[in-house]
Amino acid sequence: MAKKTKYVKVSFLGGVGEIGKNMTVIECGDDMIVVDMGITFPKEDSPGMDAIIPDITYLKQNIKRLRGIVLTHGHEDHIGAIPYYAEELGKVPIYGTALTIGLLRRKLEKNAKKCNLVTVAAGDAVTLGNIKVEFIKVCHSMAGACALAVYTAGGTVFVTGDFKIDNTPIDGKKTNIQRIAEIGAKGVTLMLGESTNVERKGSSTSERAVGQTLESIFAANKKKRLIVACFASSNYRVQQVLTLAHKYGRKVVLAGKSMKSMVEVASSCGELNVPRGVIVDSIGKLKPGEALILATGSQGEPLSALNKLSKGEFNKINVGKDDLVVLSSSPIPGNEKAVYDVINALFRKGAEVIYDSMNDIHVSGHAYEEELKLMLSLVHPLYFMPVHGEYRHQHKHVEIAGTLGVPSKNIVIPNIGESYSVTPKGFRKHSNVPAGNIYVDGVILEDGDAVVRDRRSLAEYGMLLVLAAVDLDRGKLCGDVDIVARGINLTDEVQRNVKNAAAEALRSADFDKSDIDEYAKCLKKAVRKLFMKDRQFPIIIPVVVEG
Ligand SMILES: [Zn+2]
Ligand SMILES: [Zn+2]
Repeated sequence: MAKKTKYVKVSFLGGVGEIGKNMTVIECGDDMIVVDMGITFPKEDSPGMDAIIPDITYLKQNIKRLRGIVLTHGHEDHIGAIPYYAEELGKVPIYGTALTIGLLRRKLEKNAKKCNLVTVAAGDAVTLGNIKVEFIKVCHSMAGACALAVYTAGGTVFVTGDFKIDNTPIDGKKTNIQRIAEIGAKGVTLMLGESTNVERKGSSTSERAVGQTLESIFAANKKKRLIVACFASSNYRVQQVLTLAHKYGRKVVLAGKSMKSMVEVASSCGELNVPRGVIVDSIGKLKPGEALILATGSQGEPLSALNKLSKGEFNKINVGKDDLVVLSSSPIPGNEKAVYDVINALFRKGAEVIYDSMNDIHVSGHAYEEELKLMLSLVHPLYFMPVHGEYRHQHKHVEIAGTLGVPSKNIVIPNIGESYSVTPKGFRKHSNVPAGNIYVDGVILEDGDAVVRDRRSLAEYGMLLVLAAVDLDRGKLCGDVDIVARGINLTDEVQRNVKNAAAEALRSADFDKSDIDEYAKCLKKAVRKLFMKDRQFPIIIPVVVEG
């Protein structure tokens, strides 16, 4: 029998206290839905990993109550984890607008058939058990972005998703302020508001401004070959480049797998209008002034088309003095070095490069302070939780909500794994649900935390392999102790100390004298102690055999 609980419960599996891997669970009674299932790209603190995805133990524990997954839009930090969990999700329906589902279908590859993908349009509502979800059009850096109104017996939860207010969007489809105001007027119990650009004063610039800047570049550089790099997912940016190329008589070569894939998906679902004949397969005999290369890699990604171009490794294209490179992006914090390395390499080749120092060569897809205020005013929630941001962003968003009249007792900064229930009468914190980082390196790693820890130790301190043969009965080492080191300065003194430690460990009373594995542990401890004195923590691998 269905429980009679009349509260809505919200649990955060990712996307709070961090920018990336957004995933929120909303429940009411026996019904559960998930909003977004994103990915994070690893930084230096997790070397060599492909991706970080949310822990979905809580979903697996409740899979029978899971009625659907609703996607706000098609960015990686909102849909990227789904392909890794396609098996677990089985036939749970996944809802999104055409571009979102189109991109997800591409990512799922052959698993797409196994998944239950459902395309909706902004303005649609879907019923998932006793929960109803309405998709509301918002502007963002890609098409198909929606805010969500989640109607439950315990009240309405309004999820802003990633948004901005753009009054002159490229496709003419504005953020549906009227509908958001109506929903707000009927009463929203809880609002989850994105916080990415909360530190930026004023309002974001319209995407259209980038087109004007790009046009001035096209007009002033008719003799040069243009190389434009931007996020493949930015269909509006791609649209403006294609339109201008057509207007200025240039042919466009798409460089990078994700750029080609995005152009195909976006044009097939009507979110990109490719002028006839403007895209060609190769530069061929085109003069510099007749060609444009539209490339991925605006974040300096090592395997991207722009990076390869900067090294002369892309389709035998030599970048040089006839080229003008435009990075239509700004580096995501953490990517600066990679981006500037590529820019340096392009300048070295003689190309001219225009990057973030120039106004309006890139605009953000995320709301600035005044837009966040407008959203809070329209939704006018009883409770407010800032999401999609690091702690400082969330903290600042709380201040803003306070100035707009949300009482401070009704504002909570949620952390990963936390679970809250809200009703019009109050909110309650529940015990935490399982949540955290799951590392992917080719495959999902079972104990990724340990792998990451080891890789960090290897990178910082190196590795020492100690090979010893022992006669435990007689308490003696047989022959010499061999030492193999990587990333460690193996001086005679270090070797002597390690050998002494191996002999001393054998004499210690710390281990069971009949167990060779116990001696190996003891040896490891003794060697570790030698390095700890200098605050060094190399990986130590003892290999002990009976002599
Ligand atoms: Zn986004
Ligand atoms: Zn996002």
